[in-house]
Amino acid sequence: MTAVAAAATLGACTAVPGLTSSTAAALSHGPARLGAPAPVVDCRVTKCVALTFDDGPTQYTAAILDVLERQHAVATFFLIGPHALQYRKDVLRQQRDGDAIGDHTVTHSHLTRLPAARIDYELETAAGQIASVTGHRPTLFRPPFGAWNAKVRAAAGAEGLSVVMWNVSAKDWKYHNPHLIEQRVLARVRPGAIIVLHDRYATTPPAVPHIIDALKARGYVLITVPQMFATAGGLQPGFVYHHGPSPT
Ligand SMILES: [Zn+2]
Repeated sequence: MTAVAAAATLGACTAVPGLTSSTAAALSHGPARLGAPAPVVDCRVTKCVALTFDDGPTQYTAAILDVLERQHAVATFFLIGPHALQYRKDVLRQQRDGDAIGDHTVTHSHLTRLPAARIDYELETAAGQIASVTGHRPTLFRPPFGAWNAKVRAAAGAEGLSVVMWNVSAKDWKYHNPHLIEQRVLARVRPGAIIVLHDRYATTPPAVPHIIDALKARGYVLITVPQMFATAGGLQPGFVYHHGPSPT
């Protein structure tokens, strides 16, 4: 079994106690309160989904944070380092809200086309820029354009980063239509899904409230990527994840 395949099956190999309905209710009704540990959800029992947003923060990020706060949902944001420095307030708000924060490089380049030293620079520098705002080095990384290879995985592993891909895309970078973005997500979502969206287009935030409402109506619990793997052995640096565990 390859390391990647092993990572993909981590969730299915780990026996964990079931989630109590009160824990699920607490999680579905609100993000982690300040000072209180986030409840643990077992995604092998509960239908989990992780909304992720790439390329921010931008001028559109605050609108998405408004929606998440209003609907008591959390998400995972993959930040471009210089954007984190420019929109510190939004990054701190993500951190306060219990959202997860990951590395999305400095220049948003196709890393597979770069020499190893430049890949290291992209990951390390963005991680440092994010840490200068949050006080914590990220442990999650999403490669720009989803472009990764053995070199990129090795660089991520050396930097202590897990490679987080996705298995549901609305292609909101192509379809600038909130209704279509919503339809595409809801047609493709399944338990354990990691959904990729972008907080860099004006047409994405208006889709988010409808997506969250519909997911909740279908019985999904919205959690961050690390929460999704909390009962599945966690996320390992240098491993690649396309989706989380799901009920069998
Ligand atoms: Zn991106």
